[in-house]
Amino acid sequence: MRMSKLLAPTLREDPKEAEVISHKLMLRAGYIRKLAAGIYEFLPLGIRVVLKISQIVREEMNRAGAQELFFPVILPAELWKQTGRWDIYGDELFRIKDRHDRDFCLGPTHEEIVTTLVKNEIKSYKQLPINLYQIQTKFRDEIRPRFGVMRAREFLMKDAYSFHASEADLDLEYKNMYETYCRIFNRLGLKYRVVEADPGAIGGGFSQEFMVLADSGEEEIFYCDKCNYAASKDGAAIKILNPKSEILNNVPNSKFEEIHTPEQKTIEQVASFLKAKPEQMIKTMIYEAGDSAVAVLVRGDHAINEAKVKKFLGAQNLALASEEVIKKVTGAPVGFAGPVGLSGVRIIADQAVAAIESGVTGANKKDYHLKNVVFGRDYEAELSDLRYAAEGDDCPRCQGGKFGVCRGIEVGHIFKLGTKYSKALEATYLDENNQAQNFIMGCYGIGVSRIAAAAIEQNNDDFGIIWPIPMAPYQVAVIPVRIDDEKQESAALKIYEELQGVGIDVILDDRDASLGVRLKDIDLMGFPVKIIIGPKSLQENKVEVKMRTEKVAALVPVSEILSYIQKILK
Ligand code: ATP
Ligand code: MG
Repeated sequence: MRMSKLLAPTLREDPKEAEVISHKLMLRAGYIRKLAAGIYEFLPLGIRVVLKISQIVREEMNRAGAQELFFPVILPAELWKQTGRWDIYGDELFRIKDRHDRDFCLGPTHEEIVTTLVKNEIKSYKQLPINLYQIQTKFRDEIRPRFGVMRAREFLMKDAYSFHASEADLDLEYKNMYETYCRIFNRLGLKYRVVEADPGAIGGGFSQEFMVLADSGEEEIFYCDKCNYAASKDGAAIKILNPKSEILNNVPNSKFEEIHTPEQKTIEQVASFLKAKPEQMIKTMIYEAGDSAVAVLVRGDHAINEAKVKKFLGAQNLALASEEVIKKVTGAPVGFAGPVGLSGVRIIADQAVAAIESGVTGANKKDYHLKNVVFGRDYEAELSDLRYAAEGDDCPRCQGGKFGVCRGIEVGHIFKLGTKYSKALEATYLDENNQAQNFIMGCYGIGVSRIAAAAIEQNNDDFGIIWPIPMAPYQVAVIPVRIDDEKQESAALKIYEELQGVGIDVILDDRDASLGVRLKDIDLMGFPVKIIIGPKSLQENKVEVKMRTEKVAALVPVSEILSYIQKILK
């Protein structure tokens, strides 16, 4: 490619609408343009990056034994109604009508479609397992599209779906996909972590997310500083305490007392009024789970993880109770709930609450609190892990590891679905005994276009993008210092053609502008290798080779340039 012809309009200034560096740089370097909120055009450099990522994903999926197919974008509502997702998906689903007033949606994901195909075409256990994938544009009317192609409303995804006759077989394919994803992200040259996702996720299945590490990431990641356990904020488990030895070893003798605490309602107010530490406070929140109220207890300095509560209760939905319900349950206005003497509701507590030696909590009476409250003596509760993890918490998987916290961008998600979709769509095969069985499923997604942005978040400097070689739109830029110098021009052209001849993605900077201006653009665009052809070195039949990441250039004889570049790119 000749740069004089390339449509890559660069911008000198940071675009105002862009908050994160990848969005700024993709706009500034001429990779993308915005058409509407969350809807982007990929310009020639942008689509080259996306195609390279797609190709690596495709090669590894094929190698793993998955088969590529291609589903429509326009999907009939009937299938979505059968699984209930026509309603559940809510406003994120782009809905359209055809001229006959029939409902369709633009596919945000394809479980309904692939399950129906497999239901119709696969009859016997002998045809299983099978893993089908596509690389296709997805549509989600995100509530907050932002960060450019990172959270777009139209984006490219690789989605794969596997079908099995047993859980054990699903486990094998899940592992196969886990390893395939590791190979993909390793080949792409990204630093990532695999985290265990939300424990309350629908379907009850196990899932893991692949996170590219970046400070701007939307997701908080808790990772062990000793073993390889890592989890999302919602998913991070707390080390389970042994109730006998670690909980309640020092029960105070003094009985609990009631204290007048006029107008002291929040944890902070009560703690400072009673000179108690936040870790002594027993925060008591009344929730409504389905039709019944539940009291959830957590230590004053901890936060309730509703995903864990939901999972513990096996509840479909969970919400903080209304003032009215709180009054009915506790007999007091909001702000004075506590577990002592609370009857008629299920009481569940985070395990750390049971270890509070001398607790402070609401008295279920207006303007009163209790102190010296002890679990097991003054009240009972079902104990579990119900809180969010915090930095420095003990790792739940190993001895002595502590949680660190970092941020990441979700680029992949693997999920054991089980029979959720095959049941809803009545998709069955015949087993060895000629009995109809629901397919057991897994699904596996990769955010292909998001990866481009995530890679930039991880690889940039003051001058612009620094592409990992495998996804660079062009790996090498050939740059004559003066394009009106015949000697330099012909040397540049020769090198350009030589590299192109062996399949290297190379771009020739033949623009009519000063070297400084041209280098600025080239660094902004982030090509990994520059070959600079100047008058001095050319006299000795040499050229300068400079890596995007390095300050100094190497002087390489023109005759050796091909093998030199091939070595670098490996
Ligand atoms: P998120 O939590 O970021 O919204 P998700 O859980 O909705 O992601 P999945 O349904 O698992 O995402 O989709 C698979 C992959 O598609 C994600 O891992 C992510 O990389 C990508 N993806 C999801 N939503 C978007 C989006 N709006 N724009 C770009 N890529 C996306
Ligand atoms: Mg989403």
